[in-house]
Amino acid sequence: MHPADAVPRQGRARPPLRRRSLRRWSVRHAHGLARFYRGFARLLRAAHPLFARLGYARLEAPAAAIEQAVKATLFDCRMCGQCVLSATGLACPTNCPKGLRNGPCGGVRADGSCEVHPAMPCVWVEAYAGALAMRAGPPLGATLPPLDHRRAGMSSWLQEARGDAAS
Ligand code: SF4
Repeated sequence: MHPADAVPRQGRARPPLRRRSLRRWSVRHAHGLARFYRGFARLLRAAHPLFARLGYARLEAPAAAIEQAVKATLFDCRMCGQCVLSATGLACPTNCPKGLRNGPCGGVRADGSCEVHPAMPCVWVEAYAGALAMRAGPPLGATLPPLDHRRAGMSSWLQEARGDAAS
């Protein structure tokens, strides 16, 4: 993982990633992608007995590598280890330069762009659009817990299989 891709530490704004075109595409297609993921999550949960037999510890590194490759491409994922995409309209909150996990700061510009990086749309403006597209109840209604940095880099897919996913 490139250092600029790392999960943000408190109090330090990060530069935006360069790969943003697919992130916007993913938010625009949040409804279909979320449906696909619900099916994928069912498969993961069904595979739990097999994964348990193989050993989750042994699966962690390859699963995390595949997950990172897929989700970095689609969502600019930074492998926080507690995936909340389904609660944020498929807009990954770790792309917020201030690391905000529960909605925008007070500095969103009138055109919906980020206060820190004006060329970038506010992650939370995208999240709201994605949540509306997902048509899954009131958009952005849930309060997300703070990040546990000890889980950074871990596979959320395996957590889904074990039944202890973040959202
Ligand atoms: S919320 Fe999901 S997509 Fe975003 S960094 Fe965490 S694991 Fe990756």
